Amino acid sequence: MKPYTVTQINKNTWQIAEVYHLPAALPMYLIVGEKRAALIDTGTGMGNLRATVEEITSLPVSVYNTHAHLDHAAGNNEFDSVYMHPEEEVRARAGFPVEARREFVELKCMYDPKTDDLLQYMNQNMQVYDPEYYIYFVEDGEEIDLGGIKLTAILTPGHTSGSMVYVDHENKNAFCGDALNPRSSIGMFPGSPTVETYVHSLERLLALTPDVERYFVGHRLYSFSKEDARDVLACAQEIVDGAAGEPYPMVVSRQGPVWGRIHWHGGKRITFREDYVKNKQK
Ligand SMILES: [Zn+2]
Repeated sequence: MKPYTVTQINKNTWQIAEVYHLPAALPMYLIVGEKRAALIDTGTGMGNLRATVEEITSLPVSVYNTHAHLDHAAGNNEFDSVYMHPEEEVRARAGFPVEARREFVELKCMYDPKTDDLLQYMNQNMQVYDPEYYIYFVEDGEEIDLGGIKLTAILTPGHTSGSMVYVDHENKNAFCGDALNPRSSIGMFPGSPTVETYVHSLERLLALTPDVERYFVGHRLYSFSKEDARDVLACAQEIVDGAAGEPYPMVVSRQGPVWGRIHWHGGKRITFREDYVKNKQK
């Protein structure tokens, strides 16, 4: 069984995804230049991702993480060079236990019989993540030259402090990880940025990507239009302006939920914790 679906998006871009109980999924993106390739995120580490990548390209591949959560960076060990924003290093070094990742995938599969093969594969192949490896840093504004195609890194703090969006201006694509998704989570863990910071990040992202037509989001196989991205910004702005939202279990695990609140705008949702709405006044 193949744990990943592979979909070509344009001449030099592929989506490689872990597909759970749809619409839940975990997309990664491979952008292949003339000299090298960039793999944006590595998923939960449930299988041999490198083999799937090598079926597409024989060029050297560097990983660029959108952020270092267990569902985006746990496959990093399979690759020779890994880049992330310096703020993410602490999470990458803290490690991603096999049990936590198994639980993550099981919860996303929601007992859907279509995912039985994936679950069986995952249970047999989930890789141990070794947090001791060399991490290269990528900074805000950096251009990643793949030969004939470039990605620009845009720091977009909100979901995490070092969340990066990688933009391919030529093809009008942005790869957003959890910086943009249909249910953006802000304030999941202590020390996270606030919704107010997220508003500034999205305003800046939209200002820096007037040409972008597709914002590939976290946890779904599809992309957002600019209008969809503006809906998320409006949703965040309403929270900063005082929208209270409703109670919502932000993080679900066998230890029980971490409760936050949820607010909707134009079909987009943001979950947040009340003490992570506004920045503290200095
Ligand atoms: Zn995340």
